[in-house]
Amino acid sequence: LQRERAGDQPAAVSVSEEPRTLDQFDIAGRSALVTGAASGIGLAYAEAMAEAGAKVTITDIDAEGAAREAARFTDQGYEARWESCDVSDLDQVAQAFDNHVAAYGGCDIAFANAGLDVGNGFWSPEDERNPAGQIDVFPKDSWDKSIGINLTGVFHTLREAARVMKANEGNGQRRGGSIVITSSNAAEVNEAIVGVPYMAAKAGVKHFMRHAAYELAAHGIRVNAIAPGPFVTNIGDGWVKKNPKAKEAWDKLVPVGRMAETYQIKPLALLLASDAGSYMTGSHVMIDGGMQLGPIKPL
Ligand code: NAD
Repeated sequence: LQRERAGDQPAAVSVSEEPRTLDQFDIAGRSALVTGAASGIGLAYAEAMAEAGAKVTITDIDAEGAAREAARFTDQGYEARWESCDVSDLDQVAQAFDNHVAAYGGCDIAFANAGLDVGNGFWSPEDERNPAGQIDVFPKDSWDKSIGINLTGVFHTLREAARVMKANEGNGQRRGGSIVITSSNAAEVNEAIVGVPYMAAKAGVKHFMRHAAYELAAHGIRVNAIAPGPFVTNIGDGWVKKNPKAKEAWDKLVPVGRMAETYQIKPLALLLASDAGSYMTGSHVMIDGGMQLGPIKPL
């Protein structure tokens, strides 16, 4: 152990010849593309990547929001750009990745995050946005929309991320990359509070992620999923932000006693995106305040 001391701080040397722990989280000079990054969890991922030194492309179907956030990042001295991109459209996803590679020379990190919940009428007894909660009357167009974004949108993003990451070496970039998908605790447990297709999509995402991780490992591309429990975001039209009573009810459903704030997902995002997660692939990582430990009841 050769640790020189500067004041009270240990010097930045490793106790062994191997990489120092904190250095493994360093992604300076790399680039990351995030889908659905104008808001909520995707925005937190983009912030985490920028804060850790990466160049970031913020993509979203909400072009105005993506432009607003990219400008905010740039104002704060981070390297950021934006793309309008609906993940349910393969051509738009392919174009966003191509533009990212043209701007940054390659793509090291991709977050397949964009998603929404069409709801099923169980948000609260007062919420009548979609009273058709039951399977026998669930609207087919709502099913198609949810699957098209939450499942097919993830396929599109993985497909194009794999394409550009396989080409990294030819571009003179670092080989391979890291792909992180936003799944949900609803992939694991029956969560009657969210939409019927949402659960099916997230369970599908989980298994698709496992196959993608298996197939892409030989190319140096890791694929993992983050499975959040309830986070305060704009999902469900920002229902919990607008309704303090709904937020209170949700807080009570979580074993740790509260919904999460988006900053709490950033360290996990960085772990999976960086070399700190170099031996992680095919993992479905829960960050849910313990919600998978007990039954989840409708509000
Ligand atoms: P959010 O509404 O705050 O953010 C979602 C973003 O995705 C928005 O900016 C929206 O414009 C964008 N988006 C929607 N449809 C899109 C499309 N077709 N193409 C591109 N962008 C699109 O919600 P969030 O909670 O941050 O959701 C992000 C992800 O987290 C989703 O996949 C969601 O299923 C997942 N998730 C959220 C929670 C939670 O409690 N908030 C829990 C588990 C999983």
